[in-house]
Amino acid sequence: MPEGDTLFRTARTLQRALAGKPVVRFETVLVQLSRVDDDAPIAGRTVERVRSVGKHLLIELSGDLVLRTHMRMAGSWHVYRPGERWQRPRSAMRVVVETADFQAVAFDVAVAEFRTTRELARDPALASLGPDVLDPGFDEVEAVRRLRERGALGVGDALVDQGALAGIGNVFKSEVCFAERVHPFTPVAALDDSTLLRLVRTGRRFLGMNVLESSGSGMVTTGRGDPSARLWVYGRVGEACRVCGERIRLERRGLQARSTYFCPRCQPCEVSGTSLA
Ligand SMILES: [Zn+2]
Repeated sequence: MPEGDTLFRTARTLQRALAGKPVVRFETVLVQLSRVDDDAPIAGRTVERVRSVGKHLLIELSGDLVLRTHMRMAGSWHVYRPGERWQRPRSAMRVVVETADFQAVAFDVAVAEFRTTRELARDPALASLGPDVLDPGFDEVEAVRRLRERGALGVGDALVDQGALAGIGNVFKSEVCFAERVHPFTPVAALDDSTLLRLVRTGRRFLGMNVLESSGSGMVTTGRGDPSARLWVYGRVGEACRVCGERIRLERRGLQARSTYFCPRCQPCEVSGTSLA
């Protein structure tokens, strides 16, 4: 699943390419989208704004129509010049939004639907989202409150729960927990508010760092440009911890058994020694 910053960058790229421009061609292989296009054609509408909300990408069109897509694991949006060769096979194409200058192509998106602004506001997938870590008005107190509601969850799982806070994915989950020396499987209930706040702030900082990184050349949390030194723990199973030299461990447990990387020495399990066994 892409991290919030990846989607934020995608939205920014699409915004720069499409915003303010009329759609000259719309194409889709998805029946529910082509039905809307037949009734109320997309070509001729103007792209008003493109933005990301959590892991949803919203393309707002004139005439009160919003194209909402969700990438899940495999989905992506690319921007091409008309006639430019696509980097993905045509069979993966789901949607094409074309202006005079650019072609925005959605490949393998898991969710794609048209909604009015009002429908979108009521959409449970969006309404249930926690504060978006990339939102300038991010409410950290609310984020901590929502994490707190997930007391039985391991903190790693809670951080990627988009209902608690929106934007953190599996890579940053491991990185944030390492940076704050918190074992990722520690139940939220075993952590105090100041620790949760530190995790939330570090998550914001990491995603913010990667939004500025316009190259998209890979995620960075260590602040180092060397490609082999960009991340603290993610993807580094068996390698030496950058802080203490211990071997980085990989475990898959918790919700959906997502891969979780951590240093057993820097991030001791805090559960032992508390009443929460
Ligand atoms: Zn370590």
